[in-house]
Amino acid sequence: MPKSSNKTQCPHCETDCKTVKTKQISRMYREVTYVCQNPKCGHIFVASVTPVRTLAPSAAPCDDVRIPVLA
Ligand SMILES: [Zn+2]
Repeated sequence: MPKSSNKTQCPHCETDCKTVKTKQISRMYREVTYVCQNPKCGHIFVASVTPVRTLAPSAAPCDDVRIPVLA
């Protein structure tokens, strides 16, 4: 069974983290706050989510959004 892509690991202890907050900054940028679930670690951090490439083009594209089409 492949690892879930929705799981984010703590960069320090590699334990799965819980999403506690998401904030959409712009169309192309979202910040996600994670809390490490390892009680001996306790790391809380913010990660950025941004589209990096298009695999299938949008049928309802926005003129302001340019995401490279790369396989
Ligand atoms: Zn941790």
